[in-house]
Amino acid sequence: MKRPLLVANWKMHKDQAECRAFVRGLLEAGGVGECAVVLCPPFTALEATGRALVGTGLTLGAQDVHWEEQGAFTGEISVPMLKACGCEYVIVGHSERRRIMGETDGMVQLKFKAAWAGTLTPILCVGETREERQQGNTRQVVGKQLELALAGSRRDAVPPAIVAYEPVWAIGSGVAATAAEAGEMARFIGDELRRRGSPSNQRILYGGSVHPQNIGEFMAQPGIDGALVGGASLDPHVFAALAAAAGRCR
Ligand code: PEP
Repeated sequence: MKRPLLVANWKMHKDQAECRAFVRGLLEAGGVGECAVVLCPPFTALEATGRALVGTGLTLGAQDVHWEEQGAFTGEISVPMLKACGCEYVIVGHSERRRIMGETDGMVQLKFKAAWAGTLTPILCVGETREERQQGNTRQVVGKQLELALAGSRRDAVPPAIVAYEPVWAIGSGVAATAAEAGEMARFIGDELRRRGSPSNQRILYGGSVHPQNIGEFMAQPGIDGALVGGASLDPHVFAALAAAAGRCR
């Protein structure tokens, strides 16, 4: 049985000292028990967080990446740079980057491929807006995002990625999808990935207003292997409670 996977997306929160304090606080609060955990601090705190994680069993991820290895791309960070900081994972195509920073499906595809080629495991975010759901287009939108991110990958060699189903309307809103809605979409994503020949160790997460009180409902859904967590990952005590609750479900 897979261990529940929790990815903490700290967005533009926490400096180096605050990231180190989080790791200390999490361990003092009892750690993450059964769960596998990826912490994704801002770029400026990757190295400090990576050092704090040595020997803890927790792993490091970044929130974004550029697809080129180096060059004239002011403000961007490459896969080798992230690896040199100790990253093993990178979030790709988060809806805040798509919506606020104008990231296109084409850019997401390049990032996804660059991460995979550089042996950073991509955590691909997909999800529909409220309007798209209301119009009954959820599967179509998510299917298209998946297809475009994976386009060009050989059918028999889809990388061992993690996919996070993150309905845009549930992120940071306090209104999570129902467990049934999230489970249905996780199984849809799993079917789509298998259809493309993806390996069986594929993991699918739910993200959007997850907290210690509702994580159990999501983890109980067949097809959901864990969660991508924003707000509830910022406080070490809340995150420890969330990990304990996730661990109890397996
Ligand atoms: C996210 O940032 O991907 C997210 C799911 O945020 P929150 O948990 O705050 O909704």
